[in-house]
Amino acid sequence: MKESYFYKKLAEDKIQCKTCSHFCEIEKGEKGICGVRKNENGKLVVLNYDKITALSIDPIEKKPLYHFYPGTKSLSIAAPGCNFQCESCQNWRISQGPRLDNEISGQKIFSERIIETAKAEKTPTISYTYTEPTIFAEYALDVMKLAQKEDIKNVWITNGYFSPTCLKKISPYLDAVNIDLKSFSDKFYRDRCGAKLKPVLENIKKLKEKDIWVEITTLLIPTLNTKKEEIKEIVDFIKKELGPDTPWHISRFSGPISWKLKDFPSTSSETLKAAFEIGKKKGLNHVYVGNIPSLKQENTYCSNCKKELIHRTGYEINKKYKNKECSKCGSKIPIIE
Ligand code: SF4
Repeated sequence: MKESYFYKKLAEDKIQCKTCSHFCEIEKGEKGICGVRKNENGKLVVLNYDKITALSIDPIEKKPLYHFYPGTKSLSIAAPGCNFQCESCQNWRISQGPRLDNEISGQKIFSERIIETAKAEKTPTISYTYTEPTIFAEYALDVMKLAQKEDIKNVWITNGYFSPTCLKKISPYLDAVNIDLKSFSDKFYRDRCGAKLKPVLENIKKLKEKDIWVEITTLLIPTLNTKKEEIKEIVDFIKKELGPDTPWHISRFSGPISWKLKDFPSTSSETLKAAFEIGKKKGLNHVYVGNIPSLKQENTYCSNCKKELIHRTGYEINKKYKNKECSKCGSKIPIIE
């Protein structure tokens, strides 16, 4: 078992975890909210270190990241657990398993082995994904340091609830993130995810300041976060704090595969289209929605002359640019590769 890099002692038997913005105070023998960090004799141990529950190779578009090494594969890893309890979670068996069943299953894989696999498979990136990388930050960090030495880029798919201490440690090795901005309502975050909105907004801004590539995802859940006013607030925040070239991914909710909202209807095409229109009208240059081919919202267009730059069919892509410039008008394209 691994001792955490992020905690402090409060008393003989009490410690405070400083990995995420819950800042759990944990008594001897107890675990934090995520269920994968435990006070063992005054030390914070990480119960999911070396418990890799997923190791696969995905298109980077699946994360989703549309402007970071488009058209490449990413080695994707996860360990069980999460610091959120989202009712809409689609990976809830591995994210909530440690809390619900005390189950922390996975395979021990040395960090060097992850790098060897990425090199053998020629993936330019490693994605820390499927569950929340913050709660396996120690393992992620060990892999990230090795990856950077090999010029492999590190990508977090995250709820953005890491602590300032954690961000400071990981940011020198972090190249790109896709952050869920689940809602612009603190009540939604508290009632539906067991968290708060403010740390997420603060972290999104800090990542941008640190020049880490940021894409945002919002899962639209019928009636819970689909009010136009709230969607406008999300769009205004992205445009003001991150800039109009920041990709915003709108995704469709599916009730049957969710943790606790099985009776909720799936998000309608009309709701997705309405959010897309708000994003475009308010000036975001790259708004994406999956699964509605007729609207061509999966493609990337030049923000200046509107020429199609990347055509997407599912995870298949066709690049129509060179040197990160629009071939028609010469405008720079906000793409990292
Ligand atoms: S990672 Fe977050 S939820 Fe888990 S113990 Fe630490 S502060 Fe608590």
